[in-house]
Amino acid sequence: MSTIALAVHGGAGTIAPELMTPAREKAYRAALDQALRQGHAVLKAGGIALDAVEAAVRVLEDSPHFNAGRGAVFNADGQHEMDASLMSGDDLRAGAVASVQNVKNPISLARRVMDHSSHVLLSGNGAFEFAHEQKVELEDDQYFFDEFRYQQWKETVGTDTYQLDHSDKERKFGTVGAVALDVHGTLAAATSTGGMTNKKWQRIGDSPIIGAGTYANNASCAVSCTGHGESFIRAVAAHDVHALMLYKGLSLAEAVRVVVHEKLPPLDGDGGLIAVDREGNIVLDFNCSGMYRGQVGNDGEFHTAIFR
Ligand code: ASP
Repeated sequence: MSTIALAVHGGAGTIAPELMTPAREKAYRAALDQALRQGHAVLKAGGIALDAVEAAVRVLEDSPHFNAGRGAVFNADGQHEMDASLMSGDDLRAGAVASVQNVKNPISLARRVMDHSSHVLLSGNGAFEFAHEQKVELEDDQYFFDEFRYQQWKETVGTDTYQLDHSDKERKFGTVGAVALDVHGTLAAATSTGGMTNKKWQRIGDSPIIGAGTYANNASCAVSCTGHGESFIRAVAAHDVHALMLYKGLSLAEAVRVVVHEKLPPLDGDGGLIAVDREGNIVLDFNCSGMYRGQVGNDGEFHTAIFR
């Protein structure tokens, strides 16, 4: 059988080991494992990488543990504005949505932008109108309400601070993403997030920006990022991994190391990324204390981890 590979993440940041109870760790790892299994089933059946990353991300969006879909953080108005994108490495098609509300699975709306519109990125009310037209599943505000995140938001509301979901002690994690290689040799990447707690002015992070938070190209690799979005946009982080491989001949591991440990830190770019290359090599790297992550390669063994 040709090589297949899949990796997922559920956010990176300062995860305090002392606050990670066994029950909590189990719940996070179970969600990551379930996402891997959904995506892997698609790949094993000969399905395309794009379907696999969408399936994996939907599982993480449906979990209240992660800052995406159901668990999305509160913005300054006490609402949930979500960003998502995906990309296919064979024909470089991409779809993305930004600042969307009440959409159950923003990643599937991004997929519809790719498949059923002539655009790449739709935002706000326009994206919502498109969601209606496409009849994607919507949920009322209550579905997205989470007591923990509500308290998290109350600590910052009315101030000018906005924060990464995972930037301090008890934050729940985090933006979610997936990268995959399918039996046809095609790569794909997907990322979905609620962004930053207390964000305002319809702030948009790196997650829906092709090249910043998400990138896939069969010439090199597929990448999904998580961390301080402004820095990842300035570093054009996901595309930079591709560029270092293609133009400089670096291996996937080396290209990821340069971006995560050399390019991002001077830009205050706390975070990490997951990537897979066309040989099926998987790299999961971060420059902070932890990243919720998981992977499954050709051996069919599922692995999940949080700390280094
Ligand atoms: N990158 C996301 C953003 O800035 C946040 C995260 O990864 O947690 O919107």
